[in-house]
Amino acid sequence: MNDAVVVGGGLAGAAVALLLSQAGREVALIEREACPADKVCGEFLSREAALYLASFGLDLPAFGAAPIEAVRLVERDRVAVAALPFSALSLSRRVLDEALLARAAAAGASIRRGVRVQALTRAGAGWEARLEDGSAIEARAAFLATGKHDVRGLRRPSGLQDDLVAFKLHWRLSPRQAVELDRHVELVLFEGGYAGLQPVEGDRANLCLLVRKGRFAALGQRWDRLLCAMREGSPHLDARLAGAEPCRARPLALSAIPYGHVQRRADGIWRLGDQAAVIPSFSGDGMSIALHSARLAATAYLEGASAEAFQRRLSRDVLGQVLLSTGLSHGLVRRPGQAALGAAARLCPGLMAAVAGRTRVSEAALVRGGLPAAALQGGRGPRWATR
Ligand SMILES: Cc1cc2nc3c(=O)[nH]c(=O)nc-3n(C[C@H](O)[C@H](O)[C@H](O)COP(=O)(O)OP(=O)(O)OC[C@H]3O[C@@H](n4cnc5c(N)ncnc54)[C@H](O)[C@@H]3O)c2cc1C
Repeated sequence: MNDAVVVGGGLAGAAVALLLSQAGREVALIEREACPADKVCGEFLSREAALYLASFGLDLPAFGAAPIEAVRLVERDRVAVAALPFSALSLSRRVLDEALLARAAAAGASIRRGVRVQALTRAGAGWEARLEDGSAIEARAAFLATGKHDVRGLRRPSGLQDDLVAFKLHWRLSPRQAVELDRHVELVLFEGGYAGLQPVEGDRANLCLLVRKGRFAALGQRWDRLLCAMREGSPHLDARLAGAEPCRARPLALSAIPYGHVQRRADGIWRLGDQAAVIPSFSGDGMSIALHSARLAATAYLEGASAEAFQRRLSRDVLGQVLLSTGLSHGLVRRPGQAALGAAARLCPGLMAAVAGRTRVSEAALVRGGLPAAALQGGRGPRWATR
């Protein structure tokens, strides 16, 4: 019997498999994608996420990760610019997830790909993962890291904001627009939603957005109409996409995202990443939470702590930032909230810096996750300037 079965090979699953394997445990990981795949994600790697990934042995610049040094908040025709107090990075999930999975395999984790886990149930003193090909894997402990997707019988509650649809599409911008975007992440507010645009490796830009379901329905549930409406409402975005080529015919899409969900109920399963906590995307910290959860879980498991104790610790670490982000996210997709945020960004830099700092995993939690305190020093909130 394996020591651990890990369901899902995204960042959380791959990280916990890596850490447990490095500690000499027998780990079986099951990932439903047979080969590298794109994912709906803004691909903004906060400093915390980058530090965790470096601690797992990944050299992100060597994969071509693009540096991000400033944020532009775009509300109608007004733009507020803030320098980040640290350099963030941007790397496609296709490359990033694969690299971490390869690290887990090199550390000795047994990885099965191209097959979905259909059920995760108790079996004697341990757990059984039943796969769609009819086979089963038994283990003493079960780690659930299926991210955005629920396993039958283990569905997460709907969260505090579940009325958004997400889209993600890589583009090749015109050379001039690529230069304008270089080293920036842009948060573009539009009717019913918001979009993030930033460079990724390979001279591409990632456009990832969220829109209220009602607004999307009013546009006939059509991507082309949504894109048109966004460009009409934002001269800035329209200029960015002028002469740009989409890298695929249609965007990836995702719905039923339970923003604001934080797992507190404990049933013996170690829930990681988006299965444990779902933070609204504008915060750009979901990957940090996923990696933090993996580090906390691996440490707790190796120390002999229970899944329940781990889940309580994790929820204490992230509850505040998830709730604050979810409150802000409700405002971000509504006109009055957008106008207020735009005005605040232009007029009250200190307030915005404070909010930006409080929507991230706290330093105390990161130190608990094993990151050296020295690496975390040096201010957290952006300094805002306007034009
Ligand atoms: C629109 C949007 C934008 C975002 N932008 C950002 C951002 O810019 N920065 C940031 O830090 N975070 C962002 N996030 C959040 C981030 O994507 C997630 O928090 C993060 O991916 C969670 O990692 P995970 O490992 O828990 O799940 P995932 O990355 O979703 O990985 C789960 C894995 O499990 C596999 N799987 C699923 N079901 C099964 C099954 N039954 N059997 C086997 N395998 C299975 C999947 O194929 C997948 O590989 C964004 C999220 C959304 C929705």
